[in-house]
Amino acid sequence: MELKTFIETVLSRHGCLVEDADSGGLQVLFPQRIQEILAVSEMDTLSLPAGGVKAPSLVHRGRDFIETLEPLVLPSGLFSSAAFPQMRYDVRDPESHLAAHLTIQNGIFRLTGTEKRTCSYLIVHYRMIATADTRVERLATTVINEQTQTVPEGLAGHIEPLLDRAQKGDLEQPAADLSLSLQRSGQQASASCRRIFQDFIRNLDKRLERDLKRLQEYYQALAGEIEKRLQKKGDNPEEQRRALSQLEATKTDYFKKIQDAKEKYALEITIEPVCALRIVLMVDILEVAIQRRKNSRRVELPLNPVTRRLESLLCTKCHEAVLNFSLSDDLQVQCPACFSTRPAMTAS
Ligand SMILES: [Zn+2]
Repeated sequence: MELKTFIETVLSRHGCLVEDADSGGLQVLFPQRIQEILAVSEMDTLSLPAGGVKAPSLVHRGRDFIETLEPLVLPSGLFSSAAFPQMRYDVRDPESHLAAHLTIQNGIFRLTGTEKRTCSYLIVHYRMIATADTRVERLATTVINEQTQTVPEGLAGHIEPLLDRAQKGDLEQPAADLSLSLQRSGQQASASCRRIFQDFIRNLDKRLERDLKRLQEYYQALAGEIEKRLQKKGDNPEEQRRALSQLEATKTDYFKKIQDAKEKYALEITIEPVCALRIVLMVDILEVAIQRRKNSRRVELPLNPVTRRLESLLCTKCHEAVLNFSLSDDLQVQCPACFSTRPAMTAS
């Protein structure tokens, strides 16, 4: 999932004809109504930022195109924002709170300060579809703190029932790069796929294994028959030649059947954003120095006023949200699974 899909989804829902452009961007045919709202011509090509660690905003004809999409997405609820200035959580003893909830397996940490700040959170709901010989559909939600890139686990579930109590405009929305947040949110969604479709994938693997085993048994028996015949009439050169060519054909057929089975169970997962919501909150941020050996760096860990929990950091390898992790040599956060599979060269 990426920015391109998001824009395609928004525009298509409003009757625009969207096609891939040769340049890798999108060629769009805008209906009259949308031309007026967005102040664009009938046919336009959007050049999209190339994928990379930090995607810039999508600037189109000198304007941020995401911002100009707002009139399209706001009324339909596809993208909306809400502020909750009344939500506060003043933790009395941040140091003990930190000690109780943060664990660094191979390092230490210490609180260096706290700061109250406004943070915006991007909540994105995704539809995920896994297709092989059968198809399943799931919904998934990601949340990211757009200023600290931390993840407040469970925020979406807590906040959505409270949406009618939101106070628009009472908290000034901090600067945030929506396209970058969407990219991060997409990474999180992709990371959760394997977990979400765990049973589906396991079942697929099991059936593939079963089919491959049956094929193997069937073709082994077939080859066995031919060899038996060959042994009986081994002195007849004509029979010998025929048996050998039969064996060869059986082998080719076997490999083709294996390929067919693999194709039958080949998994394809598509992730499509359904709607996005931006929440603005006043947050206590714990400034924490994390250290491994002699190296240290600073991270910001917000105490989320809605979930009343520390927000998690993201594993730099698999994008899993963690508060119990290890540090790599260059002080990157790694979840236990990624850290244990790192190359032995850096082991310590
Ligand atoms: Zn990881």
